[in-house]
Amino acid sequence: MNLLAVPALTDNLIWLLADGGGNAICVDPGEAAPVRDALARTGWRLRAILLTHHHPDHIGGANELADATGAIIHAPRDERIARADVRVGAGDRIEPAGTTMAFDVIEVPGHTSSHIAYAGMGALFCGDTLFSVGCGRIFEGTPAQMLDSLDRLAALPGETRVCCGHEYTLANCAFARSVDPGNAALVAREAQARALRARGESTLPSTLASERDCNPFLRVDTPSLVAAIGGDSRVERFAELRRRKNDFKAPTA
Ligand code: ZN
Ligand code: FE
Repeated sequence: MNLLAVPALTDNLIWLLADGGGNAICVDPGEAAPVRDALARTGWRLRAILLTHHHPDHIGGANELADATGAIIHAPRDERIARADVRVGAGDRIEPAGTTMAFDVIEVPGHTSSHIAYAGMGALFCGDTLFSVGCGRIFEGTPAQMLDSLDRLAALPGETRVCCGHEYTLANCAFARSVDPGNAALVAREAQARALRARGESTLPSTLASERDCNPFLRVDTPSLVAAIGGDSRVERFAELRRRKNDFKAPTA
């Protein structure tokens, strides 16, 4: 199994996953050119496009790629994504034709109302819901919904490779450290992420086990976070954590 994070736009990551025969799927192509380059480089054939949500930085290259390759577009049921060959929702399992791969669809409302994630082949494609050491902004849902969505993702096996839509890890680590300063796993993750970025490499994929250890938004029940954030319930704590992240300004050195 071959997994590739293709940098696109400012800080987006477009994911390519190929089976042993070189038949590939692509997740959230915000633009087509870097995907076409990657396909040319690897020799993979694009069979399917998987979209997580309607934001332009995740779908902008889908039509061009579909037209160029014949790949089938899978998307959530949302008119804001005008073109899709297959609409999918909670509980659906997709087996893209021409590949030997299969993915389960998980509904994860919060960032947008119709946001979905795809889990399969040991990977999780979670768009702008779960980031490494962070989570997406809540544009169309409630904190309770977003927390529910993150809980569903966090329940997947620890070795699952987390493939998110943006390279935000270092900025997320700065915030996480401000609320969870005693977390040794977080300190280690930040050092690793810094080294990867210094070499021009992506910090993704991470693993769910690492996220459960480092990501404050998956740790609202841990004593250190409870002490740092307060709140009478985990939803309140999560909402307060998300508010603080929105307001967070990284200290300048
Ligand atoms: Zn988005
Ligand atoms: Fe995005």
